[in-house]
Parts: sequence; structure tokens; C-alpha cells
Amino acid sequence: MIEAFISLYLFLVGAVFGSFATLVGERVVDGQSIVRPASRCNHCQTPLRPWHLVPVVSWILLGGRCSVCHTRIPMRYPAQELLLGTAVVLSFWHHSDVLLSVASCLLWFVLVIAVSTDLRHLIVPNWLTYPSCLALYALCAVGEGNFVRPLLGMVVGFVMIFAVHLISGGKMGLGDAKLYLSIGAVLGAARCVESFVLACLFGAVVGILLRWTGRLERRQFIPFVPFIVMGVACANFLLSDFPDWYLHHVLRV
Ligand SMILES: [Zn+2]
Repeated sequence: MIEAFISLYLFLVGAVFGSFATLVGERVVDGQSIVRPASRCNHCQTPLRPWHLVPVVSWILLGGRCSVCHTRIPMRYPAQELLLGTAVVLSFWHHSDVLLSVASCLLWFVLVIAVSTDLRHLIVPNWLTYPSCLALYALCAVGEGNFVRPLLGMVVGFVMIFAVHLISGGKMGLGDAKLYLSIGAVLGAARCVESFVLACLFGAVVGILLRWTGRLERRQFIPFVPFIVMGVACANFLLSDFPDWYLHHVLRV
């Protein structure tokens, strides 16, 4: 029973941070302060009331629309709150070390901001990727008592995406490569590669579906960070034992 209360509390804290991460991602890229003005409708500029700011719940109760001008509120707002809330719960129960739990939560906070900036402007900014990879390296190195493993994950993650950046002629952005510094530090080399393979699979499936339904033009870019998030979620929480299983049972090393 106590586990359920802890999970609920962690989810609420994560969802609030998910809301904040979305705000940071949108405002900083637009050159606005993250403090002022207070949260408001992007369309009619009406300040939001406190009961409009409850993560996920407010969006559902408002029917996904502004209470004044009835403009549709993007579904990604509650989705990102739901994502970070869930990630914080899973990060807490997944790691026995508190520093590694904090590192996992911080990585998901960074990923939610990156989703916002990528969906809105097709960029993953340096002010996000550089400080976060340094902080995550320090947390993981101290938490694991191993200064090599997170560094190896960072190198593998960056080199892998940088190679794709070169091969694709810049279609895969350098921001994605810098984001993989943070992902590599937390996931380590093997799961970092696994997350990218899964991200490419998700991206390919969704890209084909969008082309098939006529929603994606030929040569039109689609933001890749949401697929990175799907890949990292699977590698981090669902298939976390897969690299070890593959190495031991298939490659027999
Ligand atoms: Zn409005």
C-alpha cells in the first residue's frame, strides 16, 4: 500500500516537472523568460487560473480547449506531463542507488524539454545538452563508482549519431548527437545503441504511416526526438536486460 502512495506522490511531482519542462522548452527557444508572464493561453493570452494548472487533470476537465477562447490545447502538453510523471516513478523503482534514480529523472526532464524544442523548432539547443551531459556524467560516475562506463556510453552515443549525421548529409541533426551524450551517460554503451536502433524502427514505422496517409510530404523533415524518447523508454525500462541477454545467450561472450 505504501508503495502505491509513494508512486502516486512521485508521479504528481514528475507531472508538475513535466509541465515545467514543457514551459522551459517553449519559452527559452522563443527568447522569453520562464518566470514572467505567468502561464497563459497561447491564443487569447488569458492568464491561467490555478485550477487550470493541475497536470493532465486540467486538460481532461477542460476537454483539451482553452476555457475562454476554446482554442484547442495541444495534446502533447498532458502527454509530456504524463511521460515525466511515469518516468519519475519508474526511475525511482528501477534503481537501488539514489544518485542513479536522480540521474534517470534528470535525463527524462532533459528529454521532455528536447521534445518541446524539437517539435516546435526542429532543434535541440546547446544550453540544454552541454550542462546536462556534464551533470549526468558526474551523477552516474559517482553513483556507479565507475568513471569509465558512463564515459564510454557518452562516446558511443555521440559517435553513433555523429556518423549518421555525416552519412545522412545533415538530415540527422548534431543536436541529436549532443543529446546522446546524456543518454549514453545514463544508459551505458550497449543500451544506448539499443535505444537508437529502436528509435529508428519507431521513426521508420511512423514515417511510413504518415506518408501512406498523405500527412507527410516527400523530403519533409519530421522531429526525431520523440522517437529517441520511445527508444530510450524501451531500452531503459522495458528491455533493460536485453543487451546482457544478447551478449551471453546469442554471442556467448
Ligand atoms: Zn484562450
